[in-house]
Amino acid sequence: MFLTGKRALVTGSTSGIGLAVARALHAEGADIVLNGFGEEEEIAALKDELNAAHFGTDLTDPDAIEAMMSEAGDIDILVNNAGMQHVALIEEFPAAKWDAILALNLSAAFHTARLAVPHMKANGWGRIINTASAHSKVASPYKSAYVAAKHGLAGLTKVLALELAQCGVTANCISPGYVWTPLVENQIPDTMKARGLSRDEVINDVLLAPQPTKQFVQPEDIGALAVFLCRDEAANVNGANWSIDGGWTA
Ligand code: NAD
Repeated sequence: MFLTGKRALVTGSTSGIGLAVARALHAEGADIVLNGFGEEEEIAALKDELNAAHFGTDLTDPDAIEAMMSEAGDIDILVNNAGMQHVALIEEFPAAKWDAILALNLSAAFHTARLAVPHMKANGWGRIINTASAHSKVASPYKSAYVAAKHGLAGLTKVLALELAQCGVTANCISPGYVWTPLVENQIPDTMKARGLSRDEVINDVLLAPQPTKQFVQPEDIGALAVFLCRDEAANVNGANWSIDGGWTA
């Protein structure tokens, strides 16, 4: 329970990877602040399970982020994880989707970090963990906004790492390959349409094609790495972009 007394905000933690990270940090004793959307009863159950606070804040709205951060209390571990995807050719990519993906997958991490860092610096300890993606290192077609945002998030993380290097605060990315979550499941119909493929072809020939292990990454794998990055032994893991992608970006 080495995280007892530490407060962790995990954005996008009502589902998928964020929920697995919140569970893993909770298991080590951290106080959890959840964020994300979902059915009222499901969120109530998660709050009970993790003894957590929850903010249903829409992180595409910087004013709403400010309100959340001022109510959430001092954050020692900031996990910027909320994200969304849209799959379309560049000439068919809705401009509003581009703006929303940049706002959620990139700008929200800037806003939460700028508001969380003063406490971390004053306290001489902090961890910023950004869920990036294999798409922060390499591109795929039809994902212009997502790839741009994730490359940007990797760059932002490096700057945070350098600025905070002497403050006891580290900033790192975790970059998964394909993890079986609603975000991946929901992009299957659009990918079928964009590429003219069946569901099985999308799973095997698109999603698992670049992943040499031919297996989806498990959300719990990301949780375990997030826990490690919080350990004292990881104090010099700073500015890294740590792949969990079965060898995709090797
Ligand atoms: P998910 O769809 O299961 O969960 C997304 C979470 O973000 C949910 O809690 C949702 O409520 C929340 N969310 C969505 N829009 C929001 C908004 N506007 N404001 C606040 N919260 C919002 O997705 P996931 O697969 O667990 O993805 C989590 C992160 O991991 C994302 O940043 C994603 O890009 C990244 N990622 C996922 C995969 C994958 O294969 N699943 C791979 C690489 C990176």
